[in-house]
Amino acid sequence: MSYETLNPATGEVIKTFAQISDAEVLAALKTADDRYHDDWRFRPVTERVKIMRRAAAILREKAEEYAGYMTLEMGKLIDQGRYEVGMSVAILDYYASHAEDFLKVHPLPEAPGSVVVTEPLGVIVAVEPWNFPYYQLARVAGPQIVAGNVVMVKHASNVPQCALAFARLFEEAGAPKGVYTNLFCSADQIGALIDDFRVRGVTLTGSEQAGASVAERAGRKLKKAVLELGGSDPMIILEDAPLEHATDQAAIGRMMNMGEACVATKRVIVVGKERGRQVLDGLVKRLGSLKAGDPANPKTSIGPIVSERALEDLLTQIQGAKAAGARIVLGGKRIDRPGFYLEPTIITDIAQDNPLYQQETFGPVLSFYVVDNEEDAINLANATRFGLGSAVFSADVERAKKVAAKIEAGMVFINSIAYSAPEVPFGGVKNSGYGRELSELGIGEFVNRKLLCVADVA
Ligand code: NAP
Repeated sequence: MSYETLNPATGEVIKTFAQISDAEVLAALKTADDRYHDDWRFRPVTERVKIMRRAAAILREKAEEYAGYMTLEMGKLIDQGRYEVGMSVAILDYYASHAEDFLKVHPLPEAPGSVVVTEPLGVIVAVEPWNFPYYQLARVAGPQIVAGNVVMVKHASNVPQCALAFARLFEEAGAPKGVYTNLFCSADQIGALIDDFRVRGVTLTGSEQAGASVAERAGRKLKKAVLELGGSDPMIILEDAPLEHATDQAAIGRMMNMGEACVATKRVIVVGKERGRQVLDGLVKRLGSLKAGDPANPKTSIGPIVSERALEDLLTQIQGAKAAGARIVLGGKRIDRPGFYLEPTIITDIAQDNPLYQQETFGPVLSFYVVDNEEDAINLANATRFGLGSAVFSADVERAKKVAAKIEAGMVFINSIAYSAPEVPFGGVKNSGYGRELSELGIGEFVNRKLLCVADVA
C-alpha cells in the first residue's frame, strides 16, 4: 500500500509519499540500535524526561496545526482533533512526570541484599492505526522513550503527514537520531524487522488480522508483543438506570470519532421493553439531528468515514444485517455529497444468527438490543469474541459492580461510557488482544525487571 494523504471529505488525493527500501529500513534499525546502546539507555531518566517534556510543549504550541493534519487525512472533526492533541500532550507529560517513580529501584525487604531494578529492552517496533493518529503514538512513545527504549514506528499508510509531524516533535525536542524513527514501510518490512535480533519487542494497535500476523512472527522469534485490537463494546442499561443520562452517553459513545474507535459503544443492551422503546426513541432523535459537513467546520457533527473502502464495508454490513432479518430504524445509506459520508445508523431485531451479531462495526452504526433481565444482558454482552471496553448503567453502583464482575472485558465503566486518560490503563482480553497501555502498567510492558542480588559474605 502506498503512503498518501487522501482527504476523505472530498475524495481528493493531496500528496503521496515514497515507501522506503529494505536497505533504508536496515540502516534505520542500525541507527536506532546504535543510539540505544551508545547513548539512550545510559542517559539518566532526568535527561530523557526533559526531552519528553519539550516534545509535549511543542505539541501544545502547535495544537492547531497538528489537529489540522488529522482533519485533512482521516476526517476527524476539528474540535475532536483539538481534544486529541490535548490528550496526547497530557500522555507525554504524564510519563515525563512519573518516569522517575515508575523506574525506581524496588527493594525486596524479605530478601536482604536484593533489589529489582527496571531497565529498558532496546528497539521496540510499533505498528499503529489511523483512527487516533497522535494519541496512539503517544501511548507508545511516552512510556517507552522515558524508559530508555528506542522506538521504530510504522503508522497507518493513510496518515503520513500526521506520522511525520509526530516524529518531528522528538527531533525538535532534541532527541538524538534513532530514538524515535518513523518508517514509511510495508507489512513485509515490519516482518523482517521483527525477525531481526536487534528488535526486542513489538506492539500493534489495529485489526485482529494484523495483530495475529505480527504476534505470530514475534512468537516465532521469542519476542514480547502487546496487542490492542478490535472491540464490540456493550453498554448495559439496567432497569433502574436514569434513562436520559444513559441515552446521552450511548449517543456520544457511538458517535465519537465518527464511530471509528475501538472502544466506541457498539452495542446498546436495555433491560425492559418499555424502557428499550424510550431509549431507542431518544437515540433516533439524537443521532437523527446530526448534520453532515466539512470536518474542519466546528459546526459539523457528521464527518466523513475514513475511506471509500471503509464506507463500502459498513454499507455491506448494514445490508447483510437487513437481509438476515434485522430492522434499520435510522439511516443506513450513504449521504449524497462528495467524500465518504454515512448516515448515523441504528439497527434492531438482530437475531443470534445474523452476521451483525458477531461483527465489529467500525463507524456510526449502532446495534440495539432489548432483553428481559440482567442475566440475559450479561450473556449478550459476553456473546462476542471481543473483550475490550464495556459499560454498565444503574442507579445502584454496588449492583453495577456485581454485573461488572461478570463481564469479560479489559475495562468496565459504571454510569459512563469508556474513556481514556494517561493514568487509566487501557487494553483488552479475548480477541481484543493482550497487554496494557497507559498508566504505570504501560511502561511495564517492555522493560527488564532485573534482579540484583548482593550476597552477604561477612
Ligand atoms: P489495520 O488494518 O490492522 O491497520 C493498523 C496498522 O497495522 C496499520 O499501520 C497497518 O498498515 C498495519 N498493518 C496491517 N496489516 C499488517 C500486517 N500484516 N503486518 C504489519 N502491519 C500491518 O487496522 P484498521 O482496520 O485500520 O483499524 C481498525 C481496527 O483497529 C479495528 O478493529 C479497531 O477496533 C482496532 N483498534 C484498536 C484499538 C485498541 O486500542 N484496542 C485502537 C484503535 C483501533 P497499513 O495502513 O499500511 O495497512
